[in-house]
Parts: sequence; C-alpha cells; structure tokens
Amino acid sequence: MADPETLSDNLQNQSGLELTYTRPAETRRERALNKMRKLFSQAVFRGVMLRSKPMKLSGKSAIVFAPHQDDETFGCGGLIALKRERGIPVRVVILTDGAACFGDAARDAAGERITQLRNREVAAATATLGVPVEDLEFLSYPDGGLNSLPDADRAQAIDRIVTLLRTFRPEEVYVTHRHDHHKDHEAAFRMVTDAVLRSGLTVDLLQYPIWLVWFSGLGRRLRWRDLAGALVLPIHGVSQRKREAMTAFRSQLETLPSGSVERFYWHYELFFATKISELEKTAT
Ligand SMILES: [Zn+2]
Repeated sequence: MADPETLSDNLQNQSGLELTYTRPAETRRERALNKMRKLFSQAVFRGVMLRSKPMKLSGKSAIVFAPHQDDETFGCGGLIALKRERGIPVRVVILTDGAACFGDAARDAAGERITQLRNREVAAATATLGVPVEDLEFLSYPDGGLNSLPDADRAQAIDRIVTLLRTFRPEEVYVTHRHDHHKDHEAAFRMVTDAVLRSGLTVDLLQYPIWLVWFSGLGRRLRWRDLAGALVLPIHGVSQRKREAMTAFRSQLETLPSGSVERFYWHYELFFATKISELEKTAT
C-alpha cells in the first residue's frame, strides 16, 4: 500500500519524466487482423447489448480492482464517474507494476521508470473521474506475472486484498472478467474472488470485460455462456469525462493494438454479475 502523501509527492515530482518507448509500426497483416478484430468485437458487443438487461446505478460503495493502470478507466470509467458525481465512495486498486507494457527489454532497462509513468497516468485519469489519490492503492506485483506468483507471494497478495476489503467494507466489487483472454486479467479475477470469499463480507461482485472478445481468436475461443446475462450501464452524462480520463494514458494509447480502444468510447459499459454461491463451489 502506498502512503498517500509520499505517493502524491512522487507523482508531482515526476512531471518531467518522459519515456520514448512506443509500439513498432504494425505490419499490413497485423493492421488487417486488428481491423477484423475491431469489427468482430463491435458486432459481438452490439449483439450482447441487444440481449442484456439495463443496469441501474446503485448508491453502493465500490472497489474497482485493475490488473494494470488503465483497465479501471477503460472498463469502469463511466461507472466510477457517475458514482463519484453522487458522492458515493469508490476506491481503485492497481494490482501490478505495469512495467511490461513495452516488452521485456524495456522492462529490464527501465522498469521502475515505466511503473512511475503508469502510476502517474492512472492517478491523473482517476482524478478526472473524481477519485482522489488517497483512494488509489498500488500493490505492484509483476506485470505479466499475476498468474505465476510463488505460493507465498500469492497468499500475501490475497491477505493484502482481504485487508483492503475489510478496511473499506465495499458493497460492490468490480474485477476483470474471469475469461478475459489475458493471463493477468484472469488471475486478477481468481485472486479477488478468493479474497472476497475469505473476507466474509457480503458484496455484489461484478466482472468487466476488456480483452474478452478482442483476443478470442475471432470467436474461436469465445465461450458464449460468458456473454450471457450482461448488464448495460448507460454513461451518456459522463462519457466525455471518461474520454478525457482515457487521454491520460498516453503511453498506452500509443502501444495498444490499433482499433482496440474504440469500444471504450461508447456511451455504455458492460458488466456481468457473479453469483458468490457458484464461486464457493469452485473455490480451492
Ligand atoms: Zn490490463
């Protein structure tokens, strides 16, 4: 857990920090594939929305768990802004250090600086959404390594999440989708749900999709039951604010696959409710 004052100082002191890593230009084949992924993803989500239920914004306090600095804003930025506009408490917890976003060589050469940059970006984004820096937590586990933490580290991570849950006592918990086709995102779901069960708290648990359709191999790896029971939250009133918050992630917007970000500019966000009783059956 970061001390808010130190964190705030660090974030301000890094205002001059710039990194020059970017994604190599996509090949023609990659560009064509990403265009297909974009069209497929948008078509699937439009179909899902047709069969979804509307989600009404609740007045419940919430914790949003994000594997990386940007998932919370892309997946739940509208929800966070709507809740904060009404004065509803929201905390955001970033699980990894985000240092692997430019590849292994960049991480080895400048991992700490990349983490600082990404923490600064997420602090700016969540401030735009109405979450002050003292309500941000950074757990700093290795980016790309959440699903392969040594047993002792995984146990410690779950203990830290249980402590956060028992301290803040949220009524809702948001985490990335259980089959999000990204190993950190899927590991985040397992760790957070283990912690929710351990905490003994009664919460509404909601999953948010980031890569669920994009990295599904154009549907080959998509389990259609994962898309059932979607809840759709209209965010029209705050979608401009969400868009503004997303611009804070300059390092990511230049790195992510072309076209992958556009769905997150929609005026709707999608969530999937999780039955805690089903988790208890599968808990190990
Ligand atoms: Zn992520």
